Amino acid sequence: MIQLYLPLNFLGVLYREIRQGLTDLGRMFDLLERECEVRDAPHARDLTLDRAPDVRFEGVHFGYERERAILHGVDLVIPAGRTVAVVGPSGAGKSTLARLLYRFYDVGRPGDDDAARAAAGRITVEGHDIRDLTQASLRRAIGIVPQDTVLFNDTIEYNIRYGRPDATDEEVCEAARAAHILAFIERLPQGWKTVVGERGLKLSGGEKQRVAIARTLLKNPPILILDEATSALDSANERAIQAELRRLARDRTTLVIAHRLSTVVDAHEIVVLDNGRVVERGRHAELLAQGGRYAHMWALQQSDTQGG
Ligand code: ATP
Repeated sequence: MIQLYLPLNFLGVLYREIRQGLTDLGRMFDLLERECEVRDAPHARDLTLDRAPDVRFEGVHFGYERERAILHGVDLVIPAGRTVAVVGPSGAGKSTLARLLYRFYDVGRPGDDDAARAAAGRITVEGHDIRDLTQASLRRAIGIVPQDTVLFNDTIEYNIRYGRPDATDEEVCEAARAAHILAFIERLPQGWKTVVGERGLKLSGGEKQRVAIARTLLKNPPILILDEATSALDSANERAIQAELRRLARDRTTLVIAHRLSTVVDAHEIVVLDNGRVVERGRHAELLAQGGRYAHMWALQQSDTQGG
């Protein structure tokens, strides 16, 4: 009996591991697929940072396909520890900027020759062209709070600890507290061991965002990409999340991809992107005073908010 039990038990463990592995593998393949397009240069070096770096997009041209340019010479500077927000209509290329910084793709277009690649601009972190850095070290330095956080079919503890798997229980707990999700977790009948995700407890948009914030707090990256949610949360929840995001961004070099404008008011600079070109830039009050694109978008959103 015991002879039969052991292999079965082993199989059960294996099955659980494979299933877990598949969830993670799905994600890994997703990354690998994209990574095929981007390789470490033979001379690539590790990025080492002892403070928040400055990040620069210098004359960046880009297209996912050879036939269609998406960015046409974008210049953007995020000074060390500051926040720059990118706004603009749907399809303007805002999220593309974030994907390039994380190096899912390289600047330029598929099939570019050396001359075209050289003319396609560059992205630097603390003065290093990101193509000269190892992808692993670059990605270690960047935290992303996405629009819609994907949860693993695993415990809420696993989902938060994912930000830094070797974190202590105290650190995980502290991150949850800072992201204002600790009380919620402690109220669950199974607490930290509650399974979430598709096959577990479904979390609301705001709760998922808090998990993402807690993960990122644990990772503690010097560079942050905030891809603001398009779907509005209820306004009390939204204000709370925004306050947490602002705290998260403090002292980190932050790129905010803003789909709504309420989050960008305090940004060091707001960049208005349209059709892959920067059409306006400045601080909130300056842009309002200019009475241009941003002022128009702001007026529209204000009337939407008041009307809705
Ligand atoms: P939104 O506010 O709607 O999220 P966005 O400004 O973030 O829009 P991007 O996601 O950067 O826009 O997309 C810019 C353009 O690039 C769009 O026209 C989009 O169709 C195209 N695009 C995005 N991803 C890909 C891809 N993987 N392959 C081909 N084209 C893409």
